[in-house]
Order: sequence, then C-alpha cells, then structure tokens
Amino acid sequence: MQCDHRDLIRKYLDSELAGREKESFERHLCSCSECSRELSFYKGLDEKAKGLEPALPPQDFTQRVMAGIEEPGRAAAPNPVYMKLRWAVAYAATAAGVLVPLLGY
Ligand SMILES: [Zn+2]
Repeated sequence: MQCDHRDLIRKYLDSELAGREKESFERHLCSCSECSRELSFYKGLDEKAKGLEPALPPQDFTQRVMAGIEEPGRAAAPNPVYMKLRWAVAYAATAAGVLVPLLGY
C-alpha cells in the first residue's frame, strides 16, 4: 500500500515545503518507513547525480541535424507511382495525337 504523503517527498527535497507543511511532513517521516525509505533513495540519487559530468553532444551534432532537415522550398522526392502514371498519360496522349489523324477522326 502506498502512503498518501509520497507526493510530498520530492517537494521536500526541492525545498518546496515550508512552515507547518514542512514540520508536518518531517513528523510523518518519523512514523512512516515507506516515506523514510523513499526519501533516502531519492537523496542517494541526488548525490549520485551531483557527481556526474554533464553530457555534451558531439561537436558535429548541429551540422548533422541541420543536414538532416530538408531545406525550405526544396521539392520532395517524386512519388514513383505518380511518375509512372505521368508517363502512361503522356504515351496515351501521344498515341491519340498520332492515331486520331491517321484514322481520319
Ligand atoms: Zn508516508
């Protein structure tokens, strides 16, 4: 079963609790092993996080991202189905233009 006070743990660690709310939560910690254990866990995580080096992107990160973004106004690659259909219509129109006069219509 989860304690109703668990949502206050992060606020407590982030110094978002003050006055009576903070005192009340600290009293609760003395009697609730679940919150006390979770508070210790988060304090440990915070300590480990403080020891981490900041993660920096590779130097060419911006260039690679920008190269992957399509330039505005640049046409997208043509759809192969559309290209085949376009050629079929062109052949049909040419054939009709040749055959109609030959057939006398
Ligand atoms: Zn609790």
